[in-house]
Amino acid sequence: MIDVAGNSNEVLQIVEPGQPAEQDDFTTFATRVADHGQVLNRLCLDTLQINVGKLCNQACHHCHVDASPIRTEIMTKETVDHLLEFLSQSKVQAVDLTGGAPELNPHFRYFVERIRQMGIKVMVRCNLTVIFEPGMEDLPAFYKRHDIELVCSLPCYLEDNVDEQRGRGVYQKSIDALRTLNAIGYGQENSGLFLHLVYNPVGTSLPPGQEELEADYKRELKARFGIVFNSLYTITNMPIKRFGDFLKRRGLYQHYMNTLVQNFNVQTLNGVMCRSLVSIDWEGNIYDCDFNQMLEMHTFDQPMKVWDLIPEELIGDKIRVGNHCFGCTAGAGSSCGGELV
Ligand code: SF4
Ligand code: SF4
Repeated sequence: MIDVAGNSNEVLQIVEPGQPAEQDDFTTFATRVADHGQVLNRLCLDTLQINVGKLCNQACHHCHVDASPIRTEIMTKETVDHLLEFLSQSKVQAVDLTGGAPELNPHFRYFVERIRQMGIKVMVRCNLTVIFEPGMEDLPAFYKRHDIELVCSLPCYLEDNVDEQRGRGVYQKSIDALRTLNAIGYGQENSGLFLHLVYNPVGTSLPPGQEELEADYKRELKARFGIVFNSLYTITNMPIKRFGDFLKRRGLYQHYMNTLVQNFNVQTLNGVMCRSLVSIDWEGNIYDCDFNQMLEMHTFDQPMKVWDLIPEELIGDKIRVGNHCFGCTAGAGSSCGGELV
């Protein structure tokens, strides 16, 4: 056991590599927030982040959704229609579609078209390789037609690192996909078609500085392949689900949690994504964020469908937190839009 410098009531259990570490033994995130005189509540509802299902054409090591080609949880059209009704009554400015690979949901295109008809911005978390799946040939043109903002995973500009985390051959396919998207205007200056890339560490470190890494990515991808993009988002790996299991198997869970806790940065609290969005699962249930969704930590004491609520009711609510939240507040912070401070 060690004391964390500057915080006498913080006690962390260090587990030797190879030893199991099933229990968290940290001063809680909630206590840490309260110690700084802060209350974590929702300030506004700008964005609805919607997970349309866990089906994915990949099965990456770090995936906090446990998505894969064999998952069967998928949003139905009935749920899509309920969500469209909710959106029509809300002041939500952006819908962030995630999965799995959201494009593999059979109602994806219907959903996007209706959201765009309401004048709401659509962002899609695209894994790049999905555009080469059968039946997805016209996906890039669909993205462009509906002015979809693409947020695409590319955890490194080097082939070995990408393939290690996301599977053999994923790097080359990702490069081919980026070229295809560039060719129709995505990521090109003044095209208005936004293409952002997402970096997450391959191992157990925190992400490096976003600005410097973005410059590295831009230089390397341009030089090697002529690829351009708008922004790079650096995201910290969350110690839950597949990545959490990986850490425990390797005896690194406590070590990683220590890193997150020791790098707690109070300045990130204003920007954590739960302040301005809610997360919806494939059945329409509401959560404070995508990570809480994966941990089945519902916003309210019992599961609630978002369409059973009035949008304004969600503003001001206290957010349900757990020790995984240290993943959002370590270092420069981490959100679905990258660094926070
Ligand atoms: S990280 Fe993304 S691409 Fe990889 S398995 Fe999960 S949802 Fe699919
Ligand atoms: S994990 Fe979710 S609830 Fe916790 S700080 Fe991050 S966004 Fe907020």
